[in-house]
Amino acid sequence: MLDIQKIRTDFPILNQKVNGKSLVYFDNGATSQKPQVVIDAIAQYYQEINANIHRGVHTLSQLATDAYEIARGKVQNHINAKHNHEVLFTSGTTFGINLVTNGFAAILKPGDEVLVSSLEHHSNIVPWQMLCERTGATLKVIPMNETGELVMSEFDKLLSTNTKIVTVNHISNALGTINPIEYMIQKAHEVGAAILIDGAQAVPHLKPDVQALDCDFYVFSGHKMCGPTGTGILYGKEEWLNKFPPYQGGGEMIKEVSFEKTTYADLPHKFEAGTPNIAGGIVLGTAIDYMNSVGFENIQKQELELLEYGTKRLLEIEGLRIYGTSKNKTSVISFNIDGIHPYDIGTIIDKLGIAVRTGHHCAQPIMNFFGIPGTIRASFSFYNTKEEIDSLVEGVKRAKMMLS
Ligand SMILES: *Cc1c(COP(=O)(O)O)cnc(C)c1O
Repeated sequence: MLDIQKIRTDFPILNQKVNGKSLVYFDNGATSQKPQVVIDAIAQYYQEINANIHRGVHTLSQLATDAYEIARGKVQNHINAKHNHEVLFTSGTTFGINLVTNGFAAILKPGDEVLVSSLEHHSNIVPWQMLCERTGATLKVIPMNETGELVMSEFDKLLSTNTKIVTVNHISNALGTINPIEYMIQKAHEVGAAILIDGAQAVPHLKPDVQALDCDFYVFSGHKMCGPTGTGILYGKEEWLNKFPPYQGGGEMIKEVSFEKTTYADLPHKFEAGTPNIAGGIVLGTAIDYMNSVGFENIQKQELELLEYGTKRLLEIEGLRIYGTSKNKTSVISFNIDGIHPYDIGTIIDKLGIAVRTGHHCAQPIMNFFGIPGTIRASFSFYNTKEEIDSLVEGVKRAKMMLS
């Protein structure tokens, strides 16, 4: 069992007062807080190693390059990628998805179909729409039901040999639904389609095994898993990444440049033009080490307890409805109270030091499905406590009294 009070001392920000009250941070779905080891590692990089990578023969440049490549290896191990050149550093999930849609721009033709789920974050919708506009391919949507689960029988019907790529999140940021990606990956491959998994909300809670999953692409951000902002990973199978043209041209992604002809570097450098977020990449490795030291089994156990306790306590409030009631869900509770705008509740409980997300959570199609402008979303991390949930419940009750 985790010693939560001890874990909390790893996160200096959790001691903070906000509006004179102890911070209750329940906006982990938007970004996680950072442990001291991560904060220290950023400073340490700039104090001791700072140099550009893959370029200089001098000692610091080599140290920086080694540290960056060690971090790539840590990610490779963490997600069990077959090759380390299948692990690309990006600035985040959004960048990774756009890199993949750019790759498909050279492949798709009119008549081809892109299958996107109705549970997606805007960053896993809009790039595919742009891709379809560019190529004449058609976007098809896998529907969801009232519990916030994707309807697999409809997915089966939508799949055909016209389907070239399926894209779905591992876990929904708005509702917490854990999608049946193993099934979806297998089905996509049966019709010869590729499949991208948006793991942005999964990596804070679990350790994906990309070889066991057999997905073609798996993308995530560092900042939702205790790492720095501006970091992320695109895992892609070698055969796909080799097929794609480069995404950006520039330094570091070439073999030889002349005005007549430029040849591109091998993976992963072909997709890593320019000076990257070196400190960020290295420290993403530190964040992964940290999460593994806490242990994903422990993380899941704690978060499941918080989910069960939070669900039970919030449902004590009359007129409260939870959106996203899938059996398989992670520690996200999206809710509304009859007749009250989510924003108003968010504003009042912020005065009590409680941070939640209100609005459409970059998932407007889900809000449209339920016919609501947005929800209040409390997303729990392993460093949260039941006492904090009690504060949330008290805060919401108070806000409800003030507003009704
Ligand atoms: C946060 C999130 C994204 C976007 O991540 P960025 O870090 O903003 O690029 C995409 N998909 C899901 C499911 C997310 O939760």
